[in-house]
Amino acid sequence: MRIALVSEHASPLAVLGGVDAGGQNVHVAALATALGAEGHVVDVYTRRDDPHLQDRIPFAPNVTVVPVTAGPAAVVPKDDLLPLMGEFADRLTEAWLADRPDVVHGHFWMSGLAALDAAGRVDLELGDHLPVAQTFHALGVVKRRQQGARDTSPAARAFLEPSVARRADVVIATCSDEAFELKGFGVPPARMAVVPCGVDALHFSPEGDVAPRTERLRLLTVSRLVPRKGVGNAIEALGHLVRRGVDAELVIVGGAGDADHLEDEPEIERLQRIVAEQGLQDRVVLAGSIEHDDLPAWYRSADVVVCAPWYEPFGIVPLEAMACGRPVVATRVGGLIDTVVEDSTGLHVPPRDPEALADALEGLLGDPERRRRYGENGRRRAATRYTWRRIGSDTARTYERLTARAGVAERRTSGA
Ligand code: UDP
Repeated sequence: MRIALVSEHASPLAVLGGVDAGGQNVHVAALATALGAEGHVVDVYTRRDDPHLQDRIPFAPNVTVVPVTAGPAAVVPKDDLLPLMGEFADRLTEAWLADRPDVVHGHFWMSGLAALDAAGRVDLELGDHLPVAQTFHALGVVKRRQQGARDTSPAARAFLEPSVARRADVVIATCSDEAFELKGFGVPPARMAVVPCGVDALHFSPEGDVAPRTERLRLLTVSRLVPRKGVGNAIEALGHLVRRGVDAELVIVGGAGDADHLEDEPEIERLQRIVAEQGLQDRVVLAGSIEHDDLPAWYRSADVVVCAPWYEPFGIVPLEAMACGRPVVATRVGGLIDTVVEDSTGLHVPPRDPEALADALEGLLGDPERRRRYGENGRRRAATRYTWRRIGSDTARTYERLTARAGVAERRTSGA
C-alpha cells in the first residue's frame, strides 16, 4: 500500500521533550518505520518549521518525511496552527492529485481536518474515494474537562474535532478510555478500531548502559514539562517519602533543552518552587531533555518509574519503563489503565494525590523482590503485546479494510 501519514505539528524529525514534541512524534515515526518495514511505501506530511529542510527527506526504508509549506517556515505553537490548515490542505491536495496514495491517516485533530479536506477535493477531481483513518492522540473534550480556562486550544476545536471523528472512515483510538470518549462524539463502533501505541523493545531493554546514580533509591519521571504531566505531584510525593524517613531522590527527564538550558520554561519555575517549598534541593535532579536513543540508560538507573499525569491520552513512557524491566507507579487515567497492570507490572494511584502516590511508592521501594517481579512482568508485557511491528501490522489491517471498501463509499461531507 501507498500510505500518507499526516502529522501537522509532530514531525518524526523533532527533538523530544519540548512542550509540543512528545509521544505523537514517537508514534508517527515508529508507525511509519514499522509500515515501511512491512513493505508499504509511506510519506509523512508534516508542517515545514525550518526553511533549510529538503523537500523530501528519507527517514527509514520505504519512509520519506515531506515538509509541507504552510505559514512561516519556523516553529509555531500547535495551538496557533489552525489558521494555517487551509493552506496545508491545499498542499496535500496538490501532492495527492499528482500521486494518489491508497490511504491517508491523520494524526491529531488538525491533521484530520486538513486530510479530510484534501481527500474530499481529490475525490471530486478523480471520482474516487480516498479513505481517511484518524488517530487523535489527545481529545479536546478531555483537555477542556481537565484544564478548563487554562486550555489554550482554539475554541473551534470543540466542534471541529467531533466532526473529524464523524467524517473519518475509521477512527483508530489508542486505548479503551479514548474509545469511550469517541462514542460520545457519535462515532459508531463499526467505524472505530483500538490499536495502542508501541515501544521499541530492542532499544528499550533491561540490559545495557546505566546512567550514573547515587546510593539513594531513585524515582524517575520522563515527560514533556507541562503541568498536567503531574511532575509537581511526584515532587510532593518525594517530600512525603523523605519526611517518612525514606532515603530517595527524584530525577526529572524532559524539557525544551538540555540541563543547562532549562530556565526559560515556565513549568521549570513552578517545579523549582515546589522543590524549594519541600526542601528537596539536594534530592531532585532536573536532567533536561534526553535524546530518545540515550533514554534506556536513564530508565535502567531507576528503582521505580513514576507516571503521575492528571490525564493521559495514551502514555508511551510507562511502556518504555516496562520494556526496560522497571516497575511503574502510574495514575489510573487514560491509556495507563490499559498498559499498567495493577500488582503485576506496577501500581495504580488516583491522579493529583501526592500522598496516595507516596503510599504506593513507600511500599514498593521497601520491597525489592516485588520491584523485580513487576519489572519482569512489565518487560514481558511490553515485548509481546506492544511491539511496533505488531502495532504496524494491526494498523495496516485496518487500512486494508478501508481500501477494500473504497470506491463504493461516499465522502461524508458533514459532521452530522
Ligand atoms: N521523550 C524523550 N526525551 C525526553 C522526554 C521525552 O525522548 O527528554 C520521549 C519519551 O521517551 C516518550 C515521549 O517523549 O517516547 C513522550 O510520550 P508520552 O506518550 O509518554 O507523552 P506525550 O508527550 O505524548 O504527552
